[in-house]
Amino acid sequence: MTSQLPEGLGLLGVIESWEKYESLLQGVSELPELSLEDVKLLAPIPVPRRDIFCVGKNYREHVVEFGRSGYDTPERSEELPEAPVVFPKATTSVTGPFDDIEAHPAVTQELDYEAELGVIIGKGGRGISREDAFDHVWGYTIIDDFTARDLQRKHKQWLLGKSLDTHCPMGPYAVTKDEVPDPGALRVQSWVNGEARQDGQVSDLIFDIPELISTISAGITLLPGDIIATGTPAGVGIGFNPPRFVQPGDIVEISITGLGTQRNQVGAVVPA
Ligand code: MG
Repeated sequence: MTSQLPEGLGLLGVIESWEKYESLLQGVSELPELSLEDVKLLAPIPVPRRDIFCVGKNYREHVVEFGRSGYDTPERSEELPEAPVVFPKATTSVTGPFDDIEAHPAVTQELDYEAELGVIIGKGGRGISREDAFDHVWGYTIIDDFTARDLQRKHKQWLLGKSLDTHCPMGPYAVTKDEVPDPGALRVQSWVNGEARQDGQVSDLIFDIPELISTISAGITLLPGDIIATGTPAGVGIGFNPPRFVQPGDIVEISITGLGTQRNQVGAVVPA
């Protein structure tokens, strides 16, 4: 980020000591001149402290497409959830914003994308109220909650289907909350091989960011650097009939207003 930060600190370290680094970073008027072509962008938080908190079924039209698909088990339902559906995505699934996504042909044949706004927690806490929720937000990034649909269905619980290695492209940027005065105005979009697939707006979340933070933190202490993937809008592969899973060689792009665009190719099948 800047030569004024300790070597190798990383964004997680910055967030954990934000009181110390905020003013320092705000005082930086010139960043080192590096061309994006000359660097490799990693995920903003390549190794989160713990699993990412993901939220399922949090946009109305996606609830309907997911219920209709038959992939929602054990109950097939197009009804809106009464409370946030929260599940984990393993830290080891995180990959960079332009890295290849592994196809994992030995364990899955049904790969799908989910464009999501990722909320990065700053100040930790438990029992955070809706009113105080944004005091605990550090900023935002893009998350692809990439999913092996057959594993998601087969194993009932979603951890395995959501957590294969490289199935969580993150970034390219992490943006502080002061740059995003109204997260509801953010537009979440995805494309596969250039074809538009998802186009939602964060204001359409069934459970908004304060609700998610207050729900998760009710009995679990949120930590600095925790990430909440807020859910995906309609237009995922299983929303089509028949489903349109992504295949090796396909390119998934995800963009959110002001947060940049990530671009990941599903890796070609490597011969055994
Ligand atoms: Mg998701």
